[in-house]
Amino acid sequence: MTEALVSRMRGFGTTIFAEMSQLAARTGSINLGQGFPDTDGPAAMLDRAVQAIGSGANQYPPGPGVPELRQAVSEHRAAHYGLSYDPDGEILVTVGATEAIATSVLALCEPGDEVIAFEPYYDSYAASIALAQARLVAVTMRPEAGRFTFDPAELRAAVTPRTRAILVNSPHNPTGTVFTRDELTSIAELCQEHGLIAITDEVYEHLTFDGVEHIPLATLPGMRERTVAISSAGKTFSVTGWKTGWVCAPPELVTAVQTVKQFTTYTASAPWQLAVAHGLRHELGWVAELRAALQDKRDRLMTGLAAAGFEVFKPAGTYFAQTDIRPLGFTDGFEFARRLPELAGVVAIPTEVFYDHPARGSHFVRFAFCKKEEVIDEAAARLKRLSA
Ligand SMILES: *Cc1c(COP(=O)(O)O)cnc(C)c1O
Repeated sequence: MTEALVSRMRGFGTTIFAEMSQLAARTGSINLGQGFPDTDGPAAMLDRAVQAIGSGANQYPPGPGVPELRQAVSEHRAAHYGLSYDPDGEILVTVGATEAIATSVLALCEPGDEVIAFEPYYDSYAASIALAQARLVAVTMRPEAGRFTFDPAELRAAVTPRTRAILVNSPHNPTGTVFTRDELTSIAELCQEHGLIAITDEVYEHLTFDGVEHIPLATLPGMRERTVAISSAGKTFSVTGWKTGWVCAPPELVTAVQTVKQFTTYTASAPWQLAVAHGLRHELGWVAELRAALQDKRDRLMTGLAAAGFEVFKPAGTYFAQTDIRPLGFTDGFEFARRLPELAGVVAIPTEVFYDHPARGSHFVRFAFCKKEEVIDEAAARLKRLSA
């Protein structure tokens, strides 16, 4: 049979995460590749999901999401960021941030439209943009003074008459950068000058460190009206398997996204929505503890990586630390990641898979630290073998 898959999706075969997770299993290595926590979310929130199933929340909820969750999202956005969204018409619950991103791009971009994203970028962006037959234009983030950032002039030069949207992920996976107000201002100015839509992936909004705070792009002057803000319970509450996310945007944009979403999944699962509503209302103290614990894990891993000989970029948020492998005598992250199990019994992800221009990221390797302390400490101990 000839290739069954449509041409625009070729090149999106098995992801690197599957390959590296298999490698970890086969070699008995510690898997710091894929970013999911190895501990559960808040107990009362888990109980709320069980209770929801036991008490009849098992049929189709309303298309935009259960009212309790839309109300809780609205209260959360107002309390944390001073942003007001009407639960009826400005909030849409989705099957994770992934569906929110895909349906936003499908709903808002015509074939041939250009979408700017900062590379290295989360892998679903390129696939969603390809599905929409739009074109991803990558603006490269590079290390400067110990953190990854972009050049505002390069961003400006990337805008063309075909540019429709800028996809902004902050806190940023995989670099750990939390965009500053200045960085966000340079994005906001371009959006307003050129009438662009901003699609913001804010799934790590609560997972920031050292007192750094996440600033939603929609809080900048003139941006609420043109921003599709996307969040998810997965990372905030350590329930990545629940696949519950949401979109906050003005009615016209939410209606567009919902028009597509009603035919991808129609609606998201009811029990998780009720549990996440509980989480947003009652479990932000638990999230603060998670954030402190993650910061400690970050520091343990960074100490281990530095002792092993990596150059380490201290992340201000997310689950991930970027490293430069050149001080260890390697230049090819792919080769390094494939050999790391044999060299040190650890699995990581070559950052170049997150680039349109892989050569720009070939010497970076990403490590996840959203794992139990003893796992991080064991990984750090094993990595010391690299400097032996
Ligand atoms: C994990 C992740 C997502 C996916 O979120 P889901 O709610 O699981 O779909 C989206 N964007 C980034 C940057 C992520 O790291």
